[in-house]
Amino acid sequence: MPRHVRAEPRPWPWIFAILSVLVAAALVWGGISLLGGRPAADSGSGQETPPATTTAATSAAVPTSTASSTPTPTPTPTAKPALVPDYVLPPIQNGLAPVLTRVPTEQKVVFLTIDDGANKTPEELQILKDNDIKASLFLAQSFILDNPGFFKDFVAAGHKVEDHTLTHPLNLIKMPYAAQKAEICGMADYVEQTYGRRPVFFRPPGGPYTDNVRRAVAECGMKAVIDWEAKANAGGMDYQVGQSLRPGEIVLMHFRKEFAADMAAFLAAQKAAGLQVVLLEDYLATG
Ligand SMILES: [Zn+2]
Repeated sequence: MPRHVRAEPRPWPWIFAILSVLVAAALVWGGISLLGGRPAADSGSGQETPPATTTAATSAAVPTSTASSTPTPTPTPTAKPALVPDYVLPPIQNGLAPVLTRVPTEQKVVFLTIDDGANKTPEELQILKDNDIKASLFLAQSFILDNPGFFKDFVAAGHKVEDHTLTHPLNLIKMPYAAQKAEICGMADYVEQTYGRRPVFFRPPGGPYTDNVRRAVAECGMKAVIDWEAKANAGGMDYQVGQSLRPGEIVLMHFRKEFAADMAAFLAAQKAAGLQVVLLEDYLATG
């Protein structure tokens, strides 16, 4: 390029210089305001990221944060480590609800279930509170009709009422299907009306179940049959497998006169095994 061609528009470089300074200033200003706005937007999504300390997450991790996280006002002085469940409850298949006798996990968790509802003393709720334990309560109507309100305090404290039939028939599996369904659906309806939440789990009286029971549980709108492989009984522990609590163990207890002694046995076993007591409904994200 010949020099004279470029030399002609002398004023332009100055204008360009001024313009570029203005543009640069505008960009810097915009950048600052963008940065200023960013933290508010980021903090929301940042909190959803699971803590780095948690173990391998599966899709089960997602529902736990949204599901039944009833904002219990308990201040929980003992902060428990964050737990991301590694097991997902199977869906109803061929009209049959899945059955769990233990949650297949190696995570250091144990689940407490308390049945029937015959014995009712304020001490029982207090013991659970003192130990910061939430339990699933498999109640049968015939045991609680004298004082159903007793268990409303449990519900308010974060415990879940589940289905254990209307009349606790130990021959449930031998009854005609319609009668089984009446026992199972009837209690689900009653629990929903009385405690404001439809049960998600069913426990057969005595434990035995058949496909008919599993079918009725599904048809009554519930998600699983829950049995057990360990129980606190007469102030001691009974194990169907091994001699101590295993990870994922579902423990059976009862509202009986021996409640305090049974709970002491459970707590000793739970601590010896180094397991954290978790609410089954929370772990399985069933609400
Ligand atoms: Zn029972």
